[in-house]
Amino acid sequence: MAGRTAFLYHDDYLGYNFGPSHPLKPKRYEDTLELLQNLGIFDDMVKHYQPPRASEEDLMLVHSQEYIQRVKRQCEKGAGYLDYGDTPARRGIYEASCAKVGGSILGADLIMRGDVNHAFNVGGGLHHATRDSAAGFCVFNDVAIAARHLQQRHDLERIAIVDVDGHHGDGTQRIFYKEPILTISLHRYGGGFLGRFYPGTGTVDEIGEGAGKGYSVNVPLPVGTFNEAYLEAFNEIVPPLLEEYEPEILLNQFGVDTHYQDPLVGLALTTKSYVEVSSVLHHLAHEFSSGRYLIFGGGGYEPSNVSRCWAAMFITVAGVRAKNEDVYRELFDREMKYQNPEISRRVRKIIKDVKNTVFPIHGL
Ligand SMILES: [Zn+2]
Ligand SMILES: [Zn+2]
Repeated sequence: MAGRTAFLYHDDYLGYNFGPSHPLKPKRYEDTLELLQNLGIFDDMVKHYQPPRASEEDLMLVHSQEYIQRVKRQCEKGAGYLDYGDTPARRGIYEASCAKVGGSILGADLIMRGDVNHAFNVGGGLHHATRDSAAGFCVFNDVAIAARHLQQRHDLERIAIVDVDGHHGDGTQRIFYKEPILTISLHRYGGGFLGRFYPGTGTVDEIGEGAGKGYSVNVPLPVGTFNEAYLEAFNEIVPPLLEEYEPEILLNQFGVDTHYQDPLVGLALTTKSYVEVSSVLHHLAHEFSSGRYLIFGGGGYEPSNVSRCWAAMFITVAGVRAKNEDVYRELFDREMKYQNPEISRRVRKIIKDVKNTVFPIHGL
């Protein structure tokens, strides 16, 4: 489907640097831009935008004034942590965080102004941050800020957020838990040290409260979930809910730490899943959301893979042909014929549980 697509990246994203031994490598943002340039996909229809920094007022769409000032002060000092030990308060983190949030807001504005249909903020997707706290390498929740921006400055009511990062989108879920904003998260759950895996939430029975009941949807997947089982869960759960909800815009946190070579997560996906997931969501956005599809980055900790996975997703959504065939061929993982009947069985049970728990609330 023809449409314009924006790629959002600013060199300021490189300041989101927690130090040389930290698993989050900001260079992956720059690498993704370079890879897309090497593929030869930028033209009149597919453009790179450099977003301005978000203002304090933008941050306050989601975060408390007190928390924002604390981040600012602590990052000026450049010592200690912004949470319990995952997210260091280094110099420049506040400014880089504002740059990343600015990318998500500009993406929303470009789409709502009709300048583009789709936008991808490679530096966004900081889904663990909540109103008053940083968490899991996330300082300000740009996904939630973009959703609030769309509600308050573009008068949208039905916003869907699909989070396919390997970790539960707990911050985003918490922010919208009592509101009819549809948040769907597919993530690894359990199976780590003492059966725990970060952040430890995201079970099927977390479905939202009050006006939000049924609008938080969680698909907790076992360690080792591979393409076929993952795509079965995705296709059984996500499209029916989106078709019923008919969002005015589709937001999609697209962490790629679900990749089989990722050192932190332990799921077993390849680029095949990223192409299918983005292709399905892209079609649904055209069918139900006037083509409005705003994508955020997220996790991804094996630096040589991350840019490849995001580029595979991005050219799928943009619907363009790469001019450089050699670079294009290198984007995709080799087809894996991996099967695991025990994992398939467990995933089918989870699909059934999700359908029994939330589908009836939506008349499905
Ligand atoms: Zn399109
Ligand atoms: Zn993650």
